[in-house]
Amino acid sequence: MNLADIKQLTALLSVPQKIVIVPHKNPDGDAIGSTLGLWHFLKNKGQEATIISPNDFPKFLKWMPGAAAILNFESENTQSKKAIEEATLVFTLDFNHLGRIGQMQPFLEAVQVPIIMIDHHQEPSDYALVTYSDVTMSSTCEMVYNFIDFIGDTSEITSEIANCLYTGIMTDTGSFKYASTTSKTHRIIAELMDKGARNTYIHNVIFDTNSPSRLHLLGCALKNMVILEAFNTAYITLSQEELDTYKFKKGDTEGFVNYGLTLEGIKFAVIFIENKEEGIIKISLRSEGDFSVNEFARAHFEGGGHTNAAGGKSELSLEETAKYFVNLLPNYKKELTQ
Ligand code: 5GP
Ligand code: MN
Repeated sequence: MNLADIKQLTALLSVPQKIVIVPHKNPDGDAIGSTLGLWHFLKNKGQEATIISPNDFPKFLKWMPGAAAILNFESENTQSKKAIEEATLVFTLDFNHLGRIGQMQPFLEAVQVPIIMIDHHQEPSDYALVTYSDVTMSSTCEMVYNFIDFIGDTSEITSEIANCLYTGIMTDTGSFKYASTTSKTHRIIAELMDKGARNTYIHNVIFDTNSPSRLHLLGCALKNMVILEAFNTAYITLSQEELDTYKFKKGDTEGFVNYGLTLEGIKFAVIFIENKEEGIIKISLRSEGDFSVNEFARAHFEGGGHTNAAGGKSELSLEETAKYFVNLLPNYKKELTQ
């Protein structure tokens, strides 16, 4: 974010605004943490602010301070549309093209007021008045911290803000282990702890609140894992029937894809999850090292993300999607085996 952007934002926030804050569809810890962190900050500054999520989010994120105030565009449609219509300023967080917000897309495309993007994904599209995009950042939560720092307000970080931002940095860095974690990330985390982030509590409430059915679903996923040693690749499929058998709830498959990468030598891991209601296969892709799953997801599965973590979708059946995927691998053999 350059000086002109900071000045522009400071000016926008120096007058009362009706602010709408939007995370991506199927929001994760970083999306919910960053929108809530920013929401608390703006409200404490006396601004009117509303978070509108394109759809529901997992139970393991609902403990976050302010989570109950988040509007769900699907189930609270009238109220959500009204808030968008009345908005004088919009923040979009943790995504960078409007195709990532599902049914909300036409409504945000229609807004005539300034949009501020804060995001760390690759190849941002050009819809915002101010685009704060940095692919080197661990998380959007780290960027919200920076944003507060840029406008000279870190002293305004309350324990609510600290707990929200800590959560998103933790989830997007795989608990501070991914390559995107820098010494600066740790310094910010330390400061958030000083301001009241409850580290042990957050780890516990996110990672140690499994249900028996989720662990059984994980067992099923691991049983389904196919290992393709020739391509240093492992993939998992989960059919709708399997999800139903294990009483799938939103968020239950979070992290499953990473198991493939824990195998020695495996550099590329993918999970294909059938969603009968949406008529798609939702895909999560992960890699270790230089192999770009962002490029792979963009090229073949209408998706994108980061070099080592991306998502996408397919409209083929689960079996056909897996077959299509396996047939792509020979084109990447060199990259995957070097
Ligand atoms: P996940 O696999 O955890 O859903 O997502 C991994 C990363 O890819 C996240 O940063 C997420 O925002 C991004 N991502 C997930 N699904 C999609 C998608 O359909 N399109 C794009 N462009 N990015 C996605
Ligand atoms: Mn993120």
